[in-house]
Amino acid sequence: MVAYCPICGKPVYFGEKKRSLGRDYHPLCLKCFRCKSQLSPGNHAEHDDKPYCNHCYMKQFGPRDVSRALKQKSLKKKYRFT
Ligand SMILES: [Zn+2]
Ligand SMILES: [Zn+2]
Repeated sequence: MVAYCPICGKPVYFGEKKRSLGRDYHPLCLKCFRCKSQLSPGNHAEHDDKPYCNHCYMKQFGPRDVSRALKQKSLKKKYRFT
């Protein structure tokens, strides 16, 4: 079975694929969407189906997402206790 690279849309063959976060990328396609730095599989963030390095992800989405996640968590807790 051939997977398709989510970045360039071309098929990724077994010998060349880099599997990360459930998707198969070309080695050259697995780079940060923002700063274009090379990413290591399984050790980067993802937003909107695009790979980001952890640094860019935190800068762009991090604090907001974290506070939202925390809020949801505390809401859930409150709900459970009432
Ligand atoms: Zn590709
Ligand atoms: Zn980056």
